[in-house]
Amino acid sequence: MDNLKARRAFLFGRRAATAAVRPPWSLPEQDFLDRCTRCNDCVRACPTHIIVIGDGGFPVVDFSRGECTFCGNCASACTAGAVDAGDQTPWHLQITVSKQCLAKHDIFCMACVDACPEQAIRLHYAASVPTPEIDTSRCTGCGACIAICPPQAISLHPSETVTTP
Ligand code: SF4
Ligand code: SF4
Ligand code: SF4
Repeated sequence: MDNLKARRAFLFGRRAATAAVRPPWSLPEQDFLDRCTRCNDCVRACPTHIIVIGDGGFPVVDFSRGECTFCGNCASACTAGAVDAGDQTPWHLQITVSKQCLAKHDIFCMACVDACPEQAIRLHYAASVPTPEIDTSRCTGCGACIAICPPQAISLHPSETVTTP
């Protein structure tokens, strides 16, 4: 491992386990870190203001601020090629609903169902209070269901999380 990569592993290795969500169409994490110059042009280009400056000055998506409309502005703004809309799939994110979901505490809620523009969340009526079920084949990872969730039970994570000891 060269000095630069060793430094990155030291600085970012442990945090990679919690895996930042990079802007859509970003290169795989290591390539992204190699290419991104931390100019933060993508931060300024995002109309929904969901890209913020994260660890080490690299851009990350914060869905607590809003959703991604897949407008492509971040990719257009990235002259370094770290965010490249040439890849047809904007990102590979896994969505999870934690046990904090109100429905799992017998409180009726369908805020996420109403917020999802893809109708990817449906209520499952197996118990006294219906619980949300996500059809991952429909989920685009837009994040529209995240900020709206009262207990912040929904999260999106990169599916290609790299863990470094
Ligand atoms: S595609 Fe548009 S809305 Fe989504 S992160 Fe990029 S600039 Fe923001
Ligand atoms: S918005 Fe949150 S609390 Fe409400 S049903 Fe969806 S995941 Fe559960
Ligand atoms: S992240 Fe997925 S489930 Fe949530 S609103 Fe967007 S498409 Fe729907």
